[in-house]
Amino acid sequence: MTTNVRVNAGRLWSSLMEMAAIGATAKGGVRRIGLTDEDRQGRDLFRRWCDRQGYAVRIDPCGNMFARRAGTESGLAPVMIGSHLDSQPTGGKFDGAFGVLAALEAMRTLDDLGVTTRRPIEIVNWTNEEGAVFRPMLGSEVFTGALPLDTAYQLRDPAGETLESRLTAIGYRGERALDPNDVHCYFEAHIEQGPILEIERKTIGVVTGGIGLMWYKIKIVGVEAHAGPTPMNVRRDALMGAAEVALAVREIARARSGGRGTVGCLTPYPSSPNVIPGIVEMTVDLRHENAAELTRMDSAFRAVVATVGQENKLASEVDLTVESPPIPFNPVLVGFVRDAAESLGFSHLDIVSGAGHDAFHMARRVPTAMVFIPCENGISHNESENATQFDCEAGCNVLLQAALRAANEASEL
Ligand SMILES: [Zn+2]
Repeated sequence: MTTNVRVNAGRLWSSLMEMAAIGATAKGGVRRIGLTDEDRQGRDLFRRWCDRQGYAVRIDPCGNMFARRAGTESGLAPVMIGSHLDSQPTGGKFDGAFGVLAALEAMRTLDDLGVTTRRPIEIVNWTNEEGAVFRPMLGSEVFTGALPLDTAYQLRDPAGETLESRLTAIGYRGERALDPNDVHCYFEAHIEQGPILEIERKTIGVVTGGIGLMWYKIKIVGVEAHAGPTPMNVRRDALMGAAEVALAVREIARARSGGRGTVGCLTPYPSSPNVIPGIVEMTVDLRHENAAELTRMDSAFRAVVATVGQENKLASEVDLTVESPPIPFNPVLVGFVRDAAESLGFSHLDIVSGAGHDAFHMARRVPTAMVFIPCENGISHNESENATQFDCEAGCNVLLQAALRAANEASEL
């Protein structure tokens, strides 16, 4: 039986700290930007650890790293587990690294105890998840075919270097290693990057899917005029219209459980203290886990912009700039994660991921689920990002149990 297998928490922690020493910042964070020399050092360390366990390490043309622990039935498609080792420019020790090193610790535990699995288990380190250069979730986007490799190779970083030349420079431009059709399923463990688990005092987030989002650019046009001589009743003030839209965005999100609405950018022109703004440019970000609700939020938002325009004699343009539908995870695998948390005695909560992950790309091609653990004050993408040793151990054990079940059971996904 494998249900009584438990990971080595001390070894997981020391691996996390050893990885965090690469690109360590003075404030206790990590700067390990994708495709830089620090990224190469992190990859090299991960590769040494995998070599030591005897796993077959392969690199694909986009630099994604795969380390396979063999199964007893080598012809079966592998269970894939992992995340990413790159960080934000001022990132933390856990975002991404936890998922890769939890996967490694899970496999080391199986080695220690001589546990075999039917299916192989493949640890993955995705290239450039953070998008501090090029674009986010690049490695998984190329792996799943959502972005053609040739297009990706021609992307340029701020210094004008292509992805292809960066991959070559760090020595991680490899050969075709694996096809998504040949992957049985995918699990990713990650810190939550939000405050919900901490607020609810839960150890494990059973991630049911990824939130859907719509991004808009809005331009509101009124008439620029002098702030003194222009009476209130004849003004066509673009900023006051924008303010009504911004407040309505909050209400549209609040009216739906799980809705999110954000005005992140708002620029009035000409931006002078005694001039009524004639033009405002703003952005709106609407999110919901449910596709139908997100569509209703979109309609409500467009209606508000039209009404505000009519009532205030303002012209308006709404451009949808990004549309990413909600991504439900595989219910069977989500059940594996929930059952593992339950049987290990951890408090848990079903949760939707509000941040993007490689698992989102994977979910479109391969049955996928995620495990979340809390992070201190919900803070990530920050050098002070923190997680407890207890929660890291718990998440790693849940990942291990869910992966073992997927690797051994002949269940329909
Ligand atoms: Zn991450």
